[in-house]
Amino acid sequence: MPATPGWTDKLRTDLTGRVITPEDAAYDDDRRVFLGDIDERPAAIVRVADPLDVARVIAAARETGLDLAVRSGGHSAAGHSTTSGGIVLDLRDMRALEIDRAGRTGWAQTGLSAGEYTRAAGEHGLATGFGDTASVGIGGITLSGGIGFLVRAQGLTIDSLLGAEVVTADGAIRRVDADHEPDLFWGIRGGGGNFGVATRFHYRLHPVEQIVGGLLFLPATPATVRRFLEEAQEAPDEVSTIANVMPAPPMPFIPEEHHGEPVVMAFVVHAGGGEAGERAVAPFRAIAEPIADMVGPKPYPQIYMPEDPDYRPIATSRTSFVDSVGPETIETILDRIETARPAMRVAQIRVLGGAMARVPNDATAFAHRERRFMVTAAALSQGTEDRSEREAWANGLIEVLRRDQPAATYVGLLADEGVERIHEAYPTATWERLAEIKDRYDPTNLFHRNQNIPAAVA
Ligand SMILES: Cc1cc2nc3c(=O)[nH]c(=O)nc-3n(C[C@H](O)[C@H](O)[C@H](O)COP(=O)(O)OP(=O)(O)OC[C@H]3O[C@@H](n4cnc5c(N)ncnc54)[C@H](O)[C@@H]3O)c2cc1C
Repeated sequence: MPATPGWTDKLRTDLTGRVITPEDAAYDDDRRVFLGDIDERPAAIVRVADPLDVARVIAAARETGLDLAVRSGGHSAAGHSTTSGGIVLDLRDMRALEIDRAGRTGWAQTGLSAGEYTRAAGEHGLATGFGDTASVGIGGITLSGGIGFLVRAQGLTIDSLLGAEVVTADGAIRRVDADHEPDLFWGIRGGGGNFGVATRFHYRLHPVEQIVGGLLFLPATPATVRRFLEEAQEAPDEVSTIANVMPAPPMPFIPEEHHGEPVVMAFVVHAGGGEAGERAVAPFRAIAEPIADMVGPKPYPQIYMPEDPDYRPIATSRTSFVDSVGPETIETILDRIETARPAMRVAQIRVLGGAMARVPNDATAFAHRERRFMVTAAALSQGTEDRSEREAWANGLIEVLRRDQPAATYVGLLADEGVERIHEAYPTATWERLAEIKDRYDPTNLFHRNQNIPAAVA
Protein backbone atom coordinates (compact mmCIF):
# COMPACT_ATOMS: atom_id res chain seq x y z
CA MET A 1 0.00 0.00 0.00
CA PRO A 2 1.54 3.37 -0.98
CA ALA A 3 2.08 5.70 1.98
CA THR A 4 -0.32 8.67 2.19
CA PRO A 5 1.54 11.81 1.04
CA GLY A 6 2.28 14.25 3.86
CA TRP A 7 2.08 11.65 6.63
CA THR A 8 5.41 12.78 8.09
CA ASP A 9 4.20 16.42 8.21
CA LYS A 10 1.09 15.34 10.08
CA LEU A 11 3.15 13.28 12.48
CA ARG A 12 5.54 16.22 13.04
CA THR A 13 2.57 18.41 13.98
CA ASP A 14 0.99 15.87 16.31
CA LEU A 15 4.13 14.66 18.02
CA THR A 16 5.94 15.87 21.15
CA GLY A 17 9.09 14.09 19.97
CA ARG A 18 10.95 14.37 16.65
CA VAL A 19 10.55 12.95 13.16
CA ILE A 20 13.79 12.45 11.25
CA THR A 21 13.68 11.85 7.51
CA PRO A 22 16.48 11.42 4.92
CA GLU A 23 16.71 15.20 4.38
CA ASP A 24 17.65 15.78 8.03
CA ALA A 25 21.29 16.16 9.05
CA ALA A 26 20.78 13.67 11.90
CA TYR A 27 19.41 10.94 9.59
CA ASP A 28 22.61 8.97 9.01
CA ASP A 29 23.57 8.95 12.68
CA ASP A 30 20.09 8.09 13.80
CA ARG A 31 19.54 5.19 11.41
CA ARG A 32 22.71 3.47 12.57
CA VAL A 33 22.33 0.33 14.69
CA PHE A 34 24.96 -1.61 16.65
CA LEU A 35 26.00 -4.16 14.04
CA GLY A 36 28.21 -2.80 11.28
CA ASP A 37 26.72 -4.79 8.40
CA ILE A 38 23.14 -3.62 8.93
CA ASP A 39 22.57 -0.55 6.77
CA GLU A 40 18.85 0.09 6.26
CA ARG A 41 17.31 3.37 5.09
CA PRO A 42 13.99 3.92 6.89
CA ALA A 43 11.45 6.41 5.51
CA ALA A 44 11.40 8.04 8.96
CA ILE A 45 12.92 7.60 12.37
CA VAL A 46 10.52 8.83 15.03
CA ARG A 47 12.19 9.71 18.31
CA VAL A 48 9.21 9.46 20.61
CA ALA A 49 8.94 11.45 23.84
CA ASP A 50 6.17 9.62 25.70
CA PRO A 51 3.58 6.82 25.41
CA LEU A 52 1.15 9.13 23.59
CA ASP A 53 3.78 9.63 20.89
CA VAL A 54 4.15 5.86 20.70
CA ALA A 55 0.39 5.53 20.12
CA ARG A 56 0.62 8.20 17.38
CA VAL A 57 3.39 6.33 15.60
CA ILE A 58 1.43 3.09 15.82
CA ALA A 59 -1.55 4.90 14.26
CA ALA A 60 0.69 6.31 11.50
CA ALA A 61 2.04 2.84 10.73
CA ARG A 62 -1.50 1.52 10.46
CA GLU A 63 -2.69 4.39 8.28
CA THR A 64 0.29 4.31 5.89
CA GLY A 65 0.73 0.55 5.84
CA LEU A 66 4.46 1.10 6.26
CA ASP A 67 6.63 -1.46 8.01
CA LEU A 68 7.13 -0.65 11.71
CA ALA A 69 10.36 -1.36 13.59
CA VAL A 70 10.83 -0.66 17.30
CA ARG A 71 14.21 0.37 18.60
CA SER A 72 15.57 0.55 22.10
CA GLY A 73 19.35 -0.08 22.18
CA GLY A 74 19.63 -1.21 18.53
CA HIS A 75 21.55 -4.45 19.25
CA SER A 76 19.27 -6.94 17.50
CA ALA A 77 21.44 -9.48 15.68
CA ALA A 78 18.66 -9.87 13.13
CA GLY A 79 18.47 -6.15 12.36
CA HIS A 80 14.93 -6.05 13.69
CA SER A 81 15.17 -2.55 15.12
CA THR A 82 15.42 -0.91 11.73
CA THR A 83 13.65 -1.30 8.40
CA SER A 84 14.19 -0.26 4.83
CA GLY A 85 11.53 2.21 3.69
CA GLY A 86 9.47 1.87 6.88
CA ILE A 87 9.12 3.65 10.21
CA VAL A 88 11.57 3.22 13.08
CA LEU A 89 9.92 3.95 16.42
CA ASP A 90 13.00 5.01 18.36
CA LEU A 91 12.80 5.05 22.17
CA ARG A 92 16.23 6.57 22.84
CA ASP A 93 14.87 9.91 24.02
CA MET A 94 12.83 8.15 26.72
CA ARG A 95 15.43 7.58 29.41
CA ALA A 96 13.84 8.59 32.71
CA LEU A 97 14.59 6.43 35.73
CA GLU A 98 12.80 6.73 39.06
CA ILE A 99 14.33 4.76 41.88
CA ASP A 100 12.47 4.01 45.09
CA ARG A 101 15.48 3.34 47.28
CA ALA A 102 13.56 2.27 50.36
CA GLY A 103 11.18 0.03 48.43
CA ARG A 104 14.04 -1.28 46.24
CA THR A 105 12.22 -0.84 42.97
CA GLY A 106 12.73 1.29 39.88
CA TRP A 107 10.60 2.50 36.98
CA ALA A 108 12.77 2.81 33.88
CA GLN A 109 11.87 4.16 30.46
CA THR A 110 12.96 1.79 27.74
CA GLY A 111 15.35 4.12 25.91
CA LEU A 112 17.88 3.50 28.66
CA SER A 113 20.79 1.19 28.11
CA ALA A 114 21.73 -1.52 30.60
CA GLY A 115 24.85 0.46 31.50
CA GLU A 116 22.98 3.71 32.14
CA TYR A 117 20.46 1.94 34.37
CA THR A 118 23.21 0.04 36.20
CA ARG A 119 25.28 3.17 36.88
CA ALA A 120 22.28 5.09 38.23
CA ALA A 121 21.09 2.20 40.43
CA GLY A 122 24.67 1.61 41.58
CA GLU A 123 24.70 5.05 43.19
CA HIS A 124 22.20 3.61 45.68
CA GLY A 125 24.12 0.33 46.11
CA LEU A 126 21.36 -1.44 44.15
CA ALA A 127 21.26 -3.46 40.94
CA THR A 128 19.03 -5.32 38.52
CA GLY A 129 20.92 -7.84 36.40
CA PHE A 130 21.01 -7.39 32.62
CA GLY A 131 23.61 -8.84 30.20
CA ASP A 132 27.35 -8.56 29.65
CA THR A 133 27.33 -5.37 27.56
CA ALA A 134 26.50 -1.88 28.81
CA SER A 135 25.24 -0.49 25.49
CA VAL A 136 22.49 -3.13 25.08
CA GLY A 137 19.05 -1.53 25.48
CA ILE A 138 16.92 -2.50 28.47
CA GLY A 139 14.01 -2.80 25.98
CA GLY A 140 15.26 -5.72 23.93
CA ILE A 141 17.10 -7.59 26.66
CA THR A 142 14.22 -7.49 29.14
CA LEU A 143 11.69 -8.67 26.57
CA SER A 144 14.05 -11.54 25.68
CA GLY A 145 14.72 -12.73 29.24
CA GLY A 146 18.11 -11.29 30.14
CA ILE A 147 21.06 -13.53 31.01
CA GLY A 148 24.00 -11.75 32.59
CA PHE A 149 26.51 -11.27 35.36
CA LEU A 150 23.92 -11.87 38.10
CA VAL A 151 21.96 -14.71 36.48
CA ARG A 152 22.75 -17.36 39.07
CA ALA A 153 22.40 -14.92 41.97
CA GLN A 154 19.21 -13.07 40.94
CA GLY A 155 17.83 -15.04 37.98
CA LEU A 156 17.00 -13.59 34.58
CA THR A 157 16.25 -9.90 34.13
CA ILE A 158 12.56 -10.84 33.84
CA ASP A 159 12.70 -12.47 37.26
CA SER A 160 13.14 -8.94 38.61
CA LEU A 161 10.39 -7.49 36.42
CA LEU A 162 7.39 -6.41 38.50
CA GLY A 163 5.40 -4.78 35.74
CA ALA A 164 5.49 -2.67 32.60
CA GLU A 165 3.69 -0.02 30.62
CA VAL A 166 2.95 -1.30 27.12
CA VAL A 167 1.34 0.43 24.15
CA THR A 168 -0.46 -2.22 22.14
CA ALA A 169 -1.40 -2.35 18.44
CA ASP A 170 -4.78 -0.69 19.14
CA GLY A 171 -2.97 2.34 20.62
CA ALA A 172 -4.03 1.58 24.21
CA ILE A 173 -1.50 2.42 26.91
CA ARG A 174 -1.71 -0.54 29.26
CA ARG A 175 -0.53 -1.22 32.76
CA VAL A 176 0.76 -4.76 32.76
CA ASP A 177 1.66 -6.80 35.83
CA ALA A 178 0.58 -9.87 37.79
CA ASP A 179 -2.84 -8.30 38.52
CA HIS A 180 -3.41 -6.36 35.29
CA GLU A 181 -3.40 -8.21 31.96
CA PRO A 182 -1.52 -11.16 33.49
CA ASP A 183 -1.33 -13.06 30.18
CA LEU A 184 0.37 -10.12 28.52
CA PHE A 185 2.70 -9.87 31.53
CA TRP A 186 3.55 -13.54 31.07
CA GLY A 187 4.13 -13.00 27.32
CA ILE A 188 6.44 -10.00 27.54
CA ARG A 189 8.73 -11.93 29.88
CA GLY A 190 10.58 -13.71 27.07
CA GLY A 191 8.21 -13.24 24.12
CA GLY A 192 10.15 -10.28 22.65
CA GLY A 193 8.50 -7.29 21.00
CA ASN A 194 5.56 -9.29 19.60
CA PHE A 195 2.78 -7.73 21.65
CA GLY A 196 3.40 -4.01 21.75
CA VAL A 197 5.86 -1.29 22.59
CA ALA A 198 7.11 -1.40 26.18
CA THR A 199 7.60 2.20 27.26
CA ARG A 200 8.50 1.61 30.92
CA PHE A 201 9.59 -1.31 33.04
CA HIS A 202 9.12 -1.65 36.79
CA TYR A 203 12.04 -3.62 38.22
CA ARG A 204 12.97 -5.05 41.56
CA LEU A 205 16.37 -3.76 42.69
CA HIS A 206 18.70 -5.92 44.75
CA PRO A 207 21.33 -4.72 47.19
CA VAL A 208 24.64 -5.29 45.33
CA GLU A 209 27.06 -2.65 46.43
CA GLN A 210 30.42 -4.33 46.04
CA ILE A 211 31.26 -7.41 44.05
CA VAL A 212 34.39 -9.43 43.63
CA GLY A 213 34.67 -9.83 39.91
CA GLY A 214 36.27 -8.94 36.63
CA LEU A 215 38.13 -10.48 33.74
CA LEU A 216 40.42 -13.46 34.19
CA PHE A 217 42.62 -14.66 31.33
CA LEU A 218 43.80 -18.25 31.52
CA PRO A 219 45.69 -20.29 28.93
CA ALA A 220 43.13 -22.41 27.04
CA THR A 221 43.90 -26.11 27.08
CA PRO A 222 41.47 -29.04 27.30
CA ALA A 223 42.26 -29.30 31.03
CA THR A 224 41.83 -25.59 31.88
CA VAL A 225 38.54 -25.27 29.99
CA ARG A 226 37.18 -28.41 31.65
CA ARG A 227 38.29 -27.26 35.11
CA PHE A 228 36.81 -23.81 34.54
CA LEU A 229 33.41 -25.29 33.70
CA GLU A 230 33.57 -27.64 36.69
CA GLU A 231 34.42 -24.80 39.07
CA ALA A 232 31.68 -22.61 37.60
CA GLN A 233 29.09 -25.34 38.20
CA GLU A 234 30.29 -26.08 41.72
CA ALA A 235 30.55 -22.42 42.73
CA PRO A 236 27.89 -20.91 45.02
CA ASP A 237 24.89 -19.33 43.29
CA GLU A 238 26.35 -15.87 43.94
CA VAL A 239 28.94 -16.65 41.26
CA SER A 240 28.07 -16.24 37.58
CA THR A 241 30.64 -16.74 34.83
CA ILE A 242 31.01 -16.14 31.11
CA ALA A 243 33.92 -18.02 29.53
CA ASN A 244 35.10 -16.98 26.08
CA VAL A 245 37.50 -19.43 24.46
CA MET A 246 39.28 -17.38 21.81
CA PRO A 247 42.62 -16.13 20.52
CA ALA A 248 43.99 -13.64 23.09
CA PRO A 249 43.12 -10.15 21.89
CA PRO A 250 45.96 -7.62 21.64
CA MET A 251 44.88 -5.78 24.77
CA PRO A 252 47.48 -3.71 26.63
CA PHE A 253 47.24 -5.79 29.82
CA ILE A 254 47.94 -9.07 27.97
CA PRO A 255 51.67 -9.72 27.56
CA GLU A 256 52.53 -9.53 23.88
CA GLU A 257 53.83 -13.11 23.64
CA HIS A 258 50.28 -14.35 24.36
CA HIS A 259 48.54 -12.28 21.68
CA GLY A 260 46.71 -14.64 19.33
CA GLU A 261 47.24 -17.67 21.59
CA PRO A 262 44.09 -19.55 22.66
CA VAL A 263 42.87 -18.25 26.02
CA VAL A 264 39.88 -18.47 28.28
CA MET A 265 38.82 -14.84 28.63
CA ALA A 266 36.33 -15.16 31.46
CA PHE A 267 34.14 -12.87 33.44
CA VAL A 268 33.91 -14.18 36.99
CA VAL A 269 31.42 -12.29 39.16
CA HIS A 270 30.57 -12.89 42.81
CA ALA A 271 27.46 -10.85 43.68
CA GLY A 272 28.88 -9.49 46.92
CA GLY A 273 32.20 -8.32 48.24
CA GLY A 274 34.40 -9.18 51.20
CA GLU A 275 35.90 -12.45 52.29
CA ALA A 276 33.09 -14.57 50.86
CA GLY A 277 33.70 -13.05 47.44
CA GLU A 278 37.46 -13.60 47.56
CA ARG A 279 36.93 -17.21 48.65
CA ALA A 280 34.43 -17.84 45.85
CA VAL A 281 36.71 -16.61 43.05
CA ALA A 282 39.91 -18.27 44.38
CA PRO A 283 39.29 -21.67 42.69
CA PHE A 284 39.20 -20.01 39.25
CA ARG A 285 42.58 -18.36 39.82
CA ALA A 286 43.99 -21.71 40.89
CA ILE A 287 43.17 -23.43 37.58
CA ALA A 288 46.40 -22.21 35.99
CA GLU A 289 48.78 -19.26 36.25
CA PRO A 290 46.57 -16.43 34.96
CA ILE A 291 47.83 -14.53 31.91
CA ALA A 292 46.01 -11.49 33.27
CA ASP A 293 43.90 -11.21 36.41
CA MET A 294 41.57 -8.27 36.82
CA VAL A 295 39.23 -9.99 39.25
CA GLY A 296 38.90 -7.98 42.43
CA PRO A 297 36.62 -5.97 44.69
CA LYS A 298 34.77 -3.19 42.88
CA PRO A 299 31.40 -1.46 42.76
CA TYR A 300 29.06 -3.57 40.59
CA PRO A 301 28.69 -1.06 37.70
CA GLN A 302 32.43 -1.33 37.04
CA ILE A 303 31.98 -4.89 35.80
CA TYR A 304 30.91 -3.43 32.45
CA MET A 305 33.80 -2.91 30.04
CA PRO A 306 34.16 0.59 28.59
CA GLU A 307 32.84 0.74 25.03
CA ASP A 308 33.77 2.87 22.05
CA PRO A 309 30.45 4.40 20.90
CA ASP A 310 31.67 4.18 17.27
CA TYR A 311 32.47 0.45 17.48
CA ARG A 312 30.21 -1.35 15.02
CA PRO A 313 31.24 -5.00 14.84
CA ILE A 314 30.56 -7.24 11.90
CA ALA A 315 29.73 -10.61 13.36
CA THR A 316 27.84 -13.84 12.89
CA SER A 317 26.83 -15.77 15.95
CA ARG A 318 24.79 -18.85 16.78
CA THR A 319 23.51 -19.73 20.24
CA SER A 320 22.04 -22.81 21.90
CA PHE A 321 21.20 -24.09 25.34
CA VAL A 322 22.86 -27.41 26.12
CA ASP A 323 23.19 -29.74 29.10
CA SER A 324 26.77 -30.86 28.68
CA VAL A 325 30.05 -29.63 27.27
CA GLY A 326 32.13 -32.79 27.38
CA PRO A 327 35.87 -33.39 26.85
CA GLU A 328 35.48 -34.16 23.13
CA THR A 329 33.48 -31.00 22.58
CA ILE A 330 36.14 -28.97 24.38
CA GLU A 331 38.83 -30.51 22.13
CA THR A 332 36.80 -29.57 19.07
CA ILE A 333 36.29 -26.00 20.31
CA LEU A 334 40.03 -25.57 20.79
CA ASP A 335 40.77 -27.14 17.43
CA ARG A 336 38.30 -24.85 15.62
CA ILE A 337 39.67 -21.75 17.38
CA GLU A 338 43.25 -22.78 16.59
CA THR A 339 42.65 -23.48 12.90
CA ALA A 340 40.60 -20.32 12.36
CA ARG A 341 43.44 -18.05 13.56
CA PRO A 342 44.24 -15.21 12.99
CA ALA A 343 40.55 -14.39 12.37
CA MET A 344 38.64 -13.53 15.57
CA ARG A 345 36.54 -16.55 16.49
CA VAL A 346 34.97 -17.11 19.90
CA ALA A 347 33.24 -19.99 21.64
CA GLN A 348 31.35 -18.60 24.61
CA ILE A 349 30.14 -20.87 27.39
CA ARG A 350 27.91 -19.60 30.19
CA VAL A 351 27.18 -21.88 33.10
CA LEU A 352 23.53 -21.41 34.12
CA GLY A 353 21.52 -22.71 37.09
CA GLY A 354 21.06 -21.01 40.45
CA ALA A 355 18.20 -18.53 40.78
CA MET A 356 17.34 -18.74 37.07
CA ALA A 357 16.58 -22.46 37.40
CA ARG A 358 14.46 -22.08 40.53
CA VAL A 359 11.59 -20.40 38.64
CA PRO A 360 9.18 -22.88 36.96
CA ASN A 361 9.46 -23.09 33.18
CA ASP A 362 5.82 -22.14 32.66
CA ALA A 363 5.99 -19.04 34.86
CA THR A 364 7.19 -16.88 31.95
CA ALA A 365 7.55 -17.09 28.18
CA PHE A 366 11.25 -17.83 28.67
CA ALA A 367 11.05 -21.60 29.15
CA HIS A 368 14.54 -23.12 29.03
CA ARG A 369 15.40 -22.56 32.64
CA GLU A 370 16.68 -26.02 33.47
CA ARG A 371 19.35 -26.06 30.75
CA ARG A 372 22.85 -26.08 32.21
CA PHE A 373 24.83 -24.05 29.69
CA MET A 374 24.28 -21.39 27.07
CA VAL A 375 26.83 -21.71 24.27
CA THR A 376 27.53 -19.26 21.47
CA ALA A 377 29.79 -19.62 18.45
CA ALA A 378 30.72 -16.17 17.14
CA ALA A 379 32.84 -15.15 14.17
CA LEU A 380 33.89 -11.53 13.81
CA SER A 381 35.53 -9.80 10.88
CA GLN A 382 36.63 -6.43 9.55
CA GLY A 383 34.46 -6.43 6.45
CA THR A 384 31.29 -7.92 5.01
CA GLU A 385 32.92 -9.95 2.24
CA ASP A 386 33.62 -13.12 4.25
CA ARG A 387 30.05 -13.53 5.46
CA SER A 388 29.61 -17.06 4.11
CA GLU A 389 32.89 -18.14 5.72
CA ARG A 390 31.79 -16.65 9.06
CA GLU A 391 28.41 -18.36 8.83
CA ALA A 392 29.98 -21.69 7.96
CA TRP A 393 32.30 -21.46 10.98
CA ALA A 394 29.57 -20.45 13.45
CA ASN A 395 27.07 -23.00 12.09
CA GLY A 396 29.71 -25.74 12.11
CA LEU A 397 30.72 -25.16 15.71
CA ILE A 398 27.20 -24.78 17.08
CA GLU A 399 26.28 -28.10 15.44
CA VAL A 400 29.11 -29.74 17.39
CA LEU A 401 28.12 -28.03 20.63
CA ARG A 402 24.47 -29.01 20.45
CA ARG A 403 24.95 -32.49 19.00
CA ASP A 404 22.61 -35.13 20.46
CA GLN A 405 20.93 -32.60 22.76
CA PRO A 406 17.34 -31.31 22.62
CA ALA A 407 17.17 -28.24 20.38
CA ALA A 408 16.81 -25.04 22.39
CA THR A 409 17.93 -21.49 21.79
CA TYR A 410 17.77 -18.04 23.37
CA VAL A 411 15.53 -15.61 21.52
CA GLY A 412 17.71 -12.64 22.55
CA LEU A 413 20.71 -13.93 20.64
CA LEU A 414 18.91 -15.24 17.56
CA ALA A 415 19.94 -13.70 14.27
CA ASP A 416 17.78 -14.03 11.16
CA GLU A 417 17.82 -17.84 11.32
CA GLY A 418 14.35 -18.86 10.18
CA VAL A 419 11.13 -19.95 11.83
CA GLU A 420 12.45 -23.31 13.00
CA ARG A 421 15.02 -21.62 15.20
CA ILE A 422 12.31 -19.32 16.65
CA HIS A 423 10.41 -22.49 17.56
CA GLU A 424 13.54 -23.69 19.36
CA ALA A 425 13.28 -20.67 21.64
CA TYR A 426 9.79 -21.71 22.72
CA PRO A 427 8.64 -25.22 23.63
CA THR A 428 5.27 -26.13 22.05
CA ALA A 429 3.07 -25.18 25.03
CA THR A 430 4.85 -21.83 25.34
CA TRP A 431 4.54 -21.16 21.60
CA GLU A 432 0.80 -21.94 21.64
CA ARG A 433 0.16 -19.63 24.57
CA LEU A 434 2.21 -16.87 22.92
CA ALA A 435 0.19 -17.29 19.70
CA GLU A 436 -3.08 -16.92 21.64
CA ILE A 437 -1.81 -13.74 23.31
CA LYS A 438 -0.71 -12.46 19.90
CA ASP A 439 -4.29 -13.12 18.66
CA ARG A 440 -5.66 -10.96 21.40
CA TYR A 441 -3.22 -8.05 21.32
CA ASP A 442 -1.88 -7.92 17.75
CA PRO A 443 -4.06 -10.02 15.43
CA THR A 444 -2.83 -8.25 12.27
CA ASN A 445 0.84 -8.70 13.22
CA LEU A 446 1.65 -4.99 13.18
CA PHE A 447 4.64 -5.88 15.37
CA HIS A 448 6.40 -8.32 13.08
CA ARG A 449 9.98 -6.99 13.01
CA ASN A 450 11.01 -9.36 15.77
CA GLN A 451 11.44 -13.10 16.26
CA ASN A 452 7.88 -13.39 15.14
CA ILE A 453 5.06 -15.35 16.73
CA PRO A 454 2.18 -15.35 14.25
CA ALA A 455 -1.33 -15.09 15.72
CA ALA A 456 -2.97 -18.49 16.31
CA VAL A 457 -5.79 -17.67 13.85
CA ALA A 458 -3.24 -17.01 11.09
C1 LIG B 1 27.22 -7.19 21.97
C2 LIG B 1 25.98 -7.88 22.48
C3 LIG B 1 26.02 -8.47 23.73
C4 LIG B 1 24.88 -9.10 24.23
N1 LIG B 1 24.94 -9.69 25.46
C5 LIG B 1 23.83 -10.24 25.99
C6 LIG B 1 23.85 -10.82 27.29
O1 LIG B 1 24.88 -10.86 27.95
N2 LIG B 1 22.70 -11.35 27.76
C7 LIG B 1 21.54 -11.33 27.07
O2 LIG B 1 20.53 -11.78 27.60
N3 LIG B 1 21.50 -10.82 25.81
C8 LIG B 1 22.61 -10.29 25.27
N4 LIG B 1 22.57 -9.76 24.00
C9 LIG B 1 21.34 -9.88 23.23
C10 LIG B 1 20.44 -8.69 23.49
O3 LIG B 1 19.84 -8.82 24.76
C11 LIG B 1 19.33 -8.62 22.43
O4 LIG B 1 19.90 -8.45 21.16
C12 LIG B 1 18.36 -7.50 22.72
O5 LIG B 1 17.21 -7.70 21.95
C13 LIG B 1 18.97 -6.18 22.44
O6 LIG B 1 18.17 -5.17 22.94
P1 LIG B 1 18.23 -3.71 22.32
O7 LIG B 1 17.14 -2.95 22.95
O8 LIG B 1 19.61 -3.20 22.38
O9 LIG B 1 17.94 -4.04 20.80
P2 LIG B 1 16.97 -3.51 19.68
O10 LIG B 1 17.68 -3.91 18.43
O11 LIG B 1 16.61 -2.10 19.86
O12 LIG B 1 15.69 -4.40 19.87
C14 LIG B 1 15.74 -5.81 19.73
C15 LIG B 1 14.35 -6.36 19.49
O13 LIG B 1 13.52 -6.04 20.59
C16 LIG B 1 12.43 -5.21 20.20
N5 LIG B 1 12.32 -4.14 21.18
C17 LIG B 1 13.33 -3.44 21.73
N6 LIG B 1 12.84 -2.56 22.62
C18 LIG B 1 11.50 -2.73 22.63
C19 LIG B 1 10.45 -2.12 23.34
N7 LIG B 1 10.70 -1.19 24.24
N8 LIG B 1 9.17 -2.53 23.11
C20 LIG B 1 8.93 -3.50 22.20
N9 LIG B 1 9.88 -4.10 21.48
C21 LIG B 1 11.16 -3.73 21.69
C22 LIG B 1 12.85 -4.68 18.84
O14 LIG B 1 11.79 -4.37 18.05
C23 LIG B 1 13.67 -5.81 18.27
O15 LIG B 1 12.83 -6.78 17.72
C24 LIG B 1 23.70 -9.14 23.45
C25 LIG B 1 23.67 -8.56 22.19
C26 LIG B 1 24.80 -7.94 21.70
C27 LIG B 1 24.77 -7.33 20.33
